[in-house]
Amino acid sequence: MKIERDVALARHTTIGTGGPAGFFARPSSLDELREALAFAAGEGVPVEVIGLGSNVLVHDDGVDALVLRLEGELARVAVEDDVIVAGGGAANAVCVHRARDAGLGGLEFASAIPGTVGGGVRMNAGAYGSDFNAVLVDAVIADALRVRTVPPPELDLSYRHSALRPGEVVAQVRLQLTRQDPAEIKARIAELLAARKATQPTNKRTFGSVFKNPRADLGAGYAIEQCGLKGYRVGGAVISPRHGNFIENLGDATSADAVALMAEARARVHERFGVELEHEVRFLGPLALPPL
Ligand SMILES: Cc1cc2nc3c(=O)[nH]c(=O)nc-3n(C[C@H](O)[C@H](O)[C@H](O)COP(=O)(O)OP(=O)(O)OC[C@H]3O[C@@H](n4cnc5c(N)ncnc54)[C@H](O)[C@@H]3O)c2cc1C
Repeated sequence: MKIERDVALARHTTIGTGGPAGFFARPSSLDELREALAFAAGEGVPVEVIGLGSNVLVHDDGVDALVLRLEGELARVAVEDDVIVAGGGAANAVCVHRARDAGLGGLEFASAIPGTVGGGVRMNAGAYGSDFNAVLVDAVIADALRVRTVPPPELDLSYRHSALRPGEVVAQVRLQLTRQDPAEIKARIAELLAARKATQPTNKRTFGSVFKNPRADLGAGYAIEQCGLKGYRVGGAVISPRHGNFIENLGDATSADAVALMAEARARVHERFGVELEHEVRFLGPLALPPL
């Protein structure tokens, strides 16, 4: 496995901003993953994993870490009875299609989430009333010291939260699904994708939800919209005119532009609603929002 240096991460993220990774590797088996983790420990650099980069913002000066992208066996998808066994680097879309073809329902919620299953577990990604927590049987987690199979309670999955620690890599997951008519599954996927298209920017460069919803009865998008920030622009980034909780890259945005928009939205929402928005997007490198 090649360990590359100074690899541009902008093309590995859906927002398309950010600088390079100090080290970058694409392990394609558990052995290569172990090798990569040992390399990072030897160099004394932290490990970061990037899935499809659909919920990350990378510092414009890059990140001083070994960034891993799981490939090969670590992105493979298999169906075993009613269970999908997928490498952490497998795209949700591939898993959803394999499940549909096998007549297995329960993963349709992930059809509109443009990430990997590893990123899905890390974030406990979810939509339309379901999430990874609802289907996860167990996950194989690797770190510099060991590889172990972890049951869901240990991962403590809740709304966009998991107990995974820095340096822990989701190498494989097993997802429990249920027998269902493939035509019904297909119709449900089409329905969810259409609902998505109707409310969110689907053809723009974004990183999905910027902030978590602060309360069950107060959506982050609604709060930002109420502050009149839809369409608010800094540099090459804009708060989506379509949905307040999305930031769009107009073409030449930097991560600093996105952070400036986030800071403004957070301050204005705090002033108006008295709540502190917590960002859902994960920061890679020394990015931070100013204190309120
Ligand atoms: C248009 C759009 C719509 C979206 N809609 C939704 C939605 O409805 N619901 C939702 O929850 N999210 C949504 N998202 C956000 C995003 O798709 C999810 O958070 C997704 O699960 C991230 O997966 P990823 O593979 O792209 O992870 P990345 O964005 O690459 O990484 C996210 C975090 O997970 C970590 N990570 C990634 N892979 C692994 C791994 N194998 N092991 C350990 N850690 C890992 C990263 O280090 C990082 O901290 C949307 C994003 C976009 C762009």
